[in-house]
Amino acid sequence: MRCPFCGGEDTQVKDSRPTEEHAAIRRRRVCPACGGRFTTFERVQLRELTVIKRSGRKVPFDRNKLSRSVEVALRKRPIPAERIEQMVSSIVRQLESTGESEVTSARIGETVLQALRDLDGVAYVRFASVYRDFREASDFAEVLREIARDGAAGDMQREGAVQAAVPVAIKKL
Ligand SMILES: [Zn+2]
Repeated sequence: MRCPFCGGEDTQVKDSRPTEEHAAIRRRRVCPACGGRFTTFERVQLRELTVIKRSGRKVPFDRNKLSRSVEVALRKRPIPAERIEQMVSSIVRQLESTGESEVTSARIGETVLQALRDLDGVAYVRFASVYRDFREASDFAEVLREIARDGAAGDMQREGAVQAAVPVAIKKL
């Protein structure tokens, strides 16, 4: 594994341990050339996925990108990092299990929405407000009604300006 700091190719594993309830192996690595330390994760990949963007362009599926989008939506929400990782793993597993090697970005977005909805109402609305664009006010009202039914309405009121909190990361999904 190449060192992300100096590009050296001879990094060493200092420690390996299971994480995410044994769904992944976490390895702590050190680079003898520059002393840089970093962590890698080993996970089961059922198949190589290609994402078809709205533009029609195809790009390799990137778990890290998905992870960042989800983390952005969940920023400052009371959800443990481990729980978020589990959710991302579950989303990836669902995408890999469709039987197709290509998946549309729309499909990914909907899968994320579903998962967030079960996890945290505020994060769900953050993600949805960017992902679905809410061109029509009625869409937004509908989502708020869904949230209210799930009991996160108080959180939503405290949330205030939902749109303001959503960085570009989600759009890049
Ligand atoms: Zn290095």
